[in-house]
This record gives sequence, C-alpha cells and structure tokens, in this order.
Amino acid sequence: MTATHTGSCHCGAIAFEVESDLKDVMECNCSHCFRTGVWLTFVPTDKFRITKGEGVAQEYLFNTRKIRHFICPTCGVETHGFGAGPDGVENAAVNVRCLTDVEPFSVTPTMRFDGLHKL
Ligand SMILES: [Zn+2]
Repeated sequence: MTATHTGSCHCGAIAFEVESDLKDVMECNCSHCFRTGVWLTFVPTDKFRITKGEGVAQEYLFNTRKIRHFICPTCGVETHGFGAGPDGVENAAVNVRCLTDVEPFSVTPTMRFDGLHKL
C-alpha cells in the first residue's frame, strides 16, 4: 500500500517525505552502496520531497558520475540520490534505512543489484 513515509539523516539536518509502497528495496554491491550500507527504493522524483534542509546535503559523484548521491555534511548519512533508470527517466533513490516511521527490522531488501559488475 502506498503511503507517505518520513525520513531524515542521523543528525536531523535533512528531512524528507517519500510516497512509496516500499515493495521493492534494493541492496547493491557497488563500491559505494556496499560501503555505506544503503538500501534503496526508487520513486518518481515528484514522489520525493525535502522537508528540511533543502540545499544542505553535499553532492557526491563517482564512477560514471550519472548518479547524484546526497550526503549530510554533518553526520555523513546519505539520505537519497537522483539518477536515470534504464528508460532514461530520472528517479529518486531513497535510502530506506533513513525512514523514521517504519520499524527498522520490518524493511529488508527484496532484490539485489550487481552494481559492482554492472555499473
Ligand atoms: Zn545529518
């Protein structure tokens, strides 16, 4: 069921809302995701809103520099990113481990992406 979820970085400088059913949660083994431990769900960009700290996040680019990762400069938590999917349409990639309104162990990855070899 699609619902509006809330989330934030650890220190609270950045907060967001995302409309998602949280059905698909991706774990990726690329050099960045594996190190940081993010689990991502993808939504159209209009289903994601920064509610606090717009412009605060530090942008981080690597590899092909196509995915824009946004990281809190104070606590170091990556809340979200933006990148184009296979169809070329830009999506928001939300770190579901930053959600504050779900029981942490109730959300687990539903799929794995071999980013280490495919990105
Ligand atoms: Zn923070």
